Amino acid sequence: MLLVERRPGTSRHTKARLVNARTMEIFRALGIEGQVLAAGEPNGGFTVADTLAAEHETWIPAPAEDDTADLSPSPAWSCDQQRIEPLVRDRAHELGADVRFAHTAHIQSQDADGVNAVIEGHAVRARYLIAADGAHSPTRTALNIGWSGESLPGTAVSALFHAHLEPALRGRHTEALFARSACAFLFARGNASGRSWQLGTHVSGSDPDDLDQHVRDTIRAASGIPDLQPVIDDIATWRTGAYVASQLRAGRAFLVGDAAHVMPSYGGFGGNTGVQDAHALAWRLAFACRGDDTWLASYETERLPVARRTVSQALLRSRKTPGAPPPPEQIDATTLVLGFHYGTGGVEDPASPSGEPGTRAAHIRLRDGRSSLDLFDPTTFTTLEVPADIVTSEDLPRWERVYRQAVTIRPDGVLAAHPSPAPSTSALRQKLSLMPGRLVSSYVV
Ligand SMILES: Cc1cc2nc3c(=O)[nH]c(=O)nc-3n(C[C@H](O)[C@H](O)[C@H](O)COP(=O)(O)OP(=O)(O)OC[C@H]3O[C@@H](n4cnc5c(N)ncnc54)[C@H](O)[C@@H]3O)c2cc1C
Repeated sequence: MLLVERRPGTSRHTKARLVNARTMEIFRALGIEGQVLAAGEPNGGFTVADTLAAEHETWIPAPAEDDTADLSPSPAWSCDQQRIEPLVRDRAHELGADVRFAHTAHIQSQDADGVNAVIEGHAVRARYLIAADGAHSPTRTALNIGWSGESLPGTAVSALFHAHLEPALRGRHTEALFARSACAFLFARGNASGRSWQLGTHVSGSDPDDLDQHVRDTIRAASGIPDLQPVIDDIATWRTGAYVASQLRAGRAFLVGDAAHVMPSYGGFGGNTGVQDAHALAWRLAFACRGDDTWLASYETERLPVARRTVSQALLRSRKTPGAPPPPEQIDATTLVLGFHYGTGGVEDPASPSGEPGTRAAHIRLRDGRSSLDLFDPTTFTTLEVPADIVTSEDLPRWERVYRQAVTIRPDGVLAAHPSPAPSTSALRQKLSLMPGRLVSSYVV
């Protein structure tokens, strides 16, 4: 597998930080969950205040361990994208992927057997192409795939900085704080062993003439320390919006991540949804490369409704006054992330898993301390025929609902329809292990 990225390395600007439980389960299957845990810290919730120095009011409480321990073996976590990308890159290297930075790719054409692209002046032919080339995806444009939605007013500004904020914090920890007085967010970055900060704000119209000064003034106003001297590490500006591609596939080319959907950062769903797209596509392509392309069509039918729902939920959250209660149409983040029901386009309560095909195989704690998610193989179909005494009597009703009879689980941890193909694929394992482009992947041929 060849993966090319036009930038010289992984992302310099820390973007995503909230890693939801579903993404952590994917990192677990990939073998990097422990490294992501070490590089980040527990999710600390959201607060609202006039300034960082003022009294903090809880807005979205930090999830208690007990909240999700019943639903997933992997906790939702706070870890900067900037720190995750090198972990994914290194894992991709270890598994044999050919990862090339400072390489730009352009799709040229495709036919019934493959895709033609040009990479740094060299013609490349591949069986399939994954476009993970971001919101302005040149591949999406080249493939004539539609893109509809709405832009949000103004320009988003994100500034990474270091500053001595302890006089404002006075021993308190805040993960994310909306400072009313500055109409801006302050996000803690890094972790206790190396703390930096991020300002998130908006300016109306285009960038102000002196963006650096504007950022410094806003940090001072948000922190409540008028003479603060922040050290600005990086400033990024971009126009935000809520858009979804009209299709996720054109022939042998597939869209994932921001190339397929962009959303306001409220809820922290953007990068997570991209990782989950790549995960949903990788095993299908591995099967196709082994001669079974029957699973390719369902990538779009399963993931497009998820993209539409997630974008509309992020948009809903972006319209809400920080601190205000959620509107009735807001789906809670846990249901949105773990309760997908492929095939119906809807969601179910992950605390009461139906065991229906198309739903996520539920996490149930086994007597030996492992998770039911550790019983299946992430590279192939697994048919589980395990005795019910593997779980405690308390968990037995849930176990029997989900893992009754001989249930078959797809490589992406989704319950398969009965009867389901269970290809024997020892060679496939090798193939799939070469697919973990995810966050670092931009253009995969
Ligand atoms: C401030 C901020 C906070 C965020 N917070 C969260 C959060 O908490 N949780 C969350 O889930 N998401 C969050 N997001 C969203 C998340 O960062 C994005 O959804 C994610 O980066 C999208 O990944 P991607 O790989 O699809 O696209 P991108 O990150 O845009 O990467 C696309 C890459 O493609 C490369 N490229 C483009 N064209 C070519 C070409 N022709 N050849 C080679 N390379 C090419 C580009 O150089 C780029 O590196 C946040 C975003 C921002 C900006």
